[in-house]
Amino acid sequence: MKQGVEPDELTRPFWEAANEERLVIQKCLPCDRLQHPPVNHCPDCGESNLDWVEVSGRGHIYNYGVVHDGPVRLLQEEQPFNVAVITLDDDPGIQMYSHLPGTPEDQVPIKGAVEVIFEEAANGQKVPEWRVVDE
Ligand SMILES: [Zn+2]
Repeated sequence: MKQGVEPDELTRPFWEAANEERLVIQKCLPCDRLQHPPVNHCPDCGESNLDWVEVSGRGHIYNYGVVHDGPVRLLQEEQPFNVAVITLDDDPGIQMYSHLPGTPEDQVPIKGAVEVIFEEAANGQKVPEWRVVDE
């Protein structure tokens, strides 16, 4: 079972959208720039005029590793597992991480296309994950 996440003030809109199976990313309105993970102030312009926008949920695998001996005891029984770096098609500067559920460790297609899915964690919170799709 996946570990739960505990939303805080900053990340709550992200997790609430995830529960509705929508992927939202923080956007600085003055810069028109996407930002993830969320921040209180835009690192470029310093403004706190930030909003949330829904993105396509499409991305590509930038790189990946396989965890054989991770430090998190709750995850150890699922080892080995993938940790893939996903770049969003909406803004390849935005990276997210995924275990790529359904994809064996030795069959991860680097540069391959992925789409977001939502998996329910132990505490009922849905968590964005990514699965490999055909282009
Ligand atoms: Zn800004």
